[in-house]
Amino acid sequence: MKVKCPTCDIDVVWSADAAFRPFCSERCKLIDLGDWAAENHRIADKTAIDNQLSEEYLAELEQEFMAQDNEFFQH
Ligand SMILES: [Zn+2]
Repeated sequence: MKVKCPTCDIDVVWSADAAFRPFCSERCKLIDLGDWAAENHRIADKTAIDNQLSEEYLAELEQEFMAQDNEFFQH
């Protein structure tokens, strides 16, 4: 049985000897795992940035409301 290496598309014989199946080599396996990890990392980063932005935005809104309140009480 043969499969195609997901990274470089060459035929890999699916056998007990193919230690990195379905990849042709350790390098291709690491590249694929690296891509997957990088993808997850990007998603995690984006979520972190979104959370940070919304927290900053809420803090800003809160400060605006407080400033308006202060003006209201001064007049
Ligand atoms: Zn490969």
